[in-house]
Amino acid sequence: MKEEQREKMTLTMESRSRNEAFARAVVAAFVARLDPTMEELEDIRTAVSEAVTNAVVHGYRDSEGEIRLSAEIEGNALKLEIQDWGVGIADVEKAMEPLFTTCPEGERSGMGFSFMEAFMDNLTVHSAPGEGTTVYMEKKIGLGDGNGNG
Ligand code: ATP
Ligand code: MG
Repeated sequence: MKEEQREKMTLTMESRSRNEAFARAVVAAFVARLDPTMEELEDIRTAVSEAVTNAVVHGYRDSEGEIRLSAEIEGNALKLEIQDWGVGIADVEKAMEPLFTTCPEGERSGMGFSFMEAFMDNLTVHSAPGEGTTVYMEKKIGLGDGNGNG
């Protein structure tokens, strides 16, 4: 597909852990039109999974609510936005540090944001306590150098 294209989709779902797999399947199906490599697809699936899992387990930790996933294709770029209206994050910079977690006693390792950052070309997080969290991610498809650095 050479011509410049711009297409969007939005999905609203409940904050249930089963929706982690659902969300990554939806994004994988959406980005298929850009013909990603298996590696690119796996990177995207992991990043989506981490972001949706965070909304479920942290954003709505003691409650339930909506998670909105928006995806946009612009040229060869996939742009994702994952939003929740949960508890929010007081210190976003600190939360994004590798190994930082507010659930150290649990099965959390504090690597979710690090994976999103490593697997995508751009990661931006907007959040405020009591207002919720929005994660923006972007990945260019088809620019990999075949050495895992793309
Ligand atoms: P892991 O992802 O490795 O299981 P983790 O979820 O704790 O562990 P990150 O995904 O990097 O690690 O997130 C770091 C911290 O940021 C979380 O422990 C949590 O405090 C906070 N956080 C992340 N996403 C959200 C969110 N959507 N709402 C509220 N807090 C969040
Ligand atoms: Mg996480």
